[in-house]
Amino acid sequence: MALLPPTSMPTIEAIYRKREERQGDGWRAHLGASSIGNECERALWFTFRWATQTRRSGRLLRLFETGQLAEARFVDDLRSVGVEVHEIGEDGAQFSVNACRGHFGGSMDGVALGIIEAPKTWHLVEMKTHNAKSFAALKKDGVAKSKPAHWSQMQAYMHLAGLDRAFYIAANKDTDELYSERVKLDEAFAMRLIAKADRVINAPEPPPGISSDPSFYLCRFCDHSAICHRETLAPRNCRTCLHSTPVDGGQWDCERWHRILSLDEQKAGCGAHKYVPALVNGEVKDTTDDAVVYVMAGGSEWYDSEVPW
Ligand code: SF4
Ligand code: SF4
Repeated sequence: MALLPPTSMPTIEAIYRKREERQGDGWRAHLGASSIGNECERALWFTFRWATQTRRSGRLLRLFETGQLAEARFVDDLRSVGVEVHEIGEDGAQFSVNACRGHFGGSMDGVALGIIEAPKTWHLVEMKTHNAKSFAALKKDGVAKSKPAHWSQMQAYMHLAGLDRAFYIAANKDTDELYSERVKLDEAFAMRLIAKADRVINAPEPPPGISSDPSFYLCRFCDHSAICHRETLAPRNCRTCLHSTPVDGGQWDCERWHRILSLDEQKAGCGAHKYVPALVNGEVKDTTDDAVVYVMAGGSEWYDSEVPW
């Protein structure tokens, strides 16, 4: 007897909803090495400045977790053939690196010794899962060409961790076929990545984007498209406020209240928030003690003013 497909799956829906409820705001304290390969510096600036609160579907959140759960299997497989893998340092924390006065960095998947192709060389280990199409491209073209974001991530990590080789290990999620590639440090490339991070972090306003056309293929898949093309206002938090500045030690200073802000305070913002003008779809007409006055794209006036908090 043929089974009819279920018309609804309330239990599965509940699982997805639970994951969606539990997702955080997605705002990271620092600019991550995993994203520095993004071709669009404007997108990186929006990410660093918490300009978009991205909401993911429960299914997608589960898919991200699939990649994280795969790491333990990669480590087991490597150890099974005699590779010494370390995922955490002596302090019990993941190996992390940072640069740009503490505003750029990330955590490495691990380091390894005994990779059979070069057993005496310490390697950064980067572990990734791919769908079948992405895996086929990886096998055909290698990681630098098929996954430039992963390549850039490894270059930044190697440069900052003092390693000159990486071992990229990947799995096809459909077939569980494995792929590996040894990657050599390209010091000049890595230094350009750090300079790029510095530019993004220190820019008071969003830099030019890769396209001004929202239908451009990279813009269509960009989390920040609505903000970038000024179709909506960014959330109010300290990172979108013109009074904040990233300072030494990965910290943020508020020139309105003359103090360093905790991460929670940055997320909450305050009643004196005023947008970085480039985030507003209008031109600054005037500034008063407690407001910035804009002429909006439609011709109306808008007061970005302090409110009781
Ligand atoms: S929408 Fe396009 S131009 Fe704007 S930030 Fe995203 S990728 Fe860059
Ligand atoms: S004025 Fe308020 S919102 Fe702006 S940076 Fe200072 S504390 Fe944050």
